[in-house]
Amino acid sequence: MTEEAETDGEEAATDGEDAATDGGDEVLRASDLGGEGPPIEEKPYKIVFEANKCFGAGKCAEVADNWVMDVVSGMAKPKTYYVGEDDLDENVRAAEACPAKKEAGVIHVVDRRTDEEVAPDPHGDGTLSVDW
Ligand code: SF4
Repeated sequence: MTEEAETDGEEAATDGEDAATDGGDEVLRASDLGGEGPPIEEKPYKIVFEANKCFGAGKCAEVADNWVMDVVSGMAKPKTYYVGEDDLDENVRAAEACPAKKEAGVIHVVDRRTDEEVAPDPHGDGTLSVDW
């Protein structure tokens, strides 16, 4: 992909500079992650979980039925990655309660219709706040 961008010439180079200003990485969209999942009408939200940054604090499992602690790994995991309107609130609570990454959180709730992060949204602009 990078090679293609380079052969695209100046426009691509400008995009590269913009990306560098944002921290040097290409912008990762939530829709780039995970599989197709169930129909969006049924489950308009999905979870993006930075499992490698979870340190097992367990706050998520305290506030949301969708989050459980794995006894083997000691880390959290969601029962489901695709969420309907009924289960949105508890997953938002889990995302906001997670203290990992200096309180920024490693549970991300994304609106699949707009590809925007609903919670925790530390940037306040709906961009996906993962650090991969
Ligand atoms: S609250 Fe965050 S750090 Fe704690 S177990 Fe849940 S996902 Fe992991």
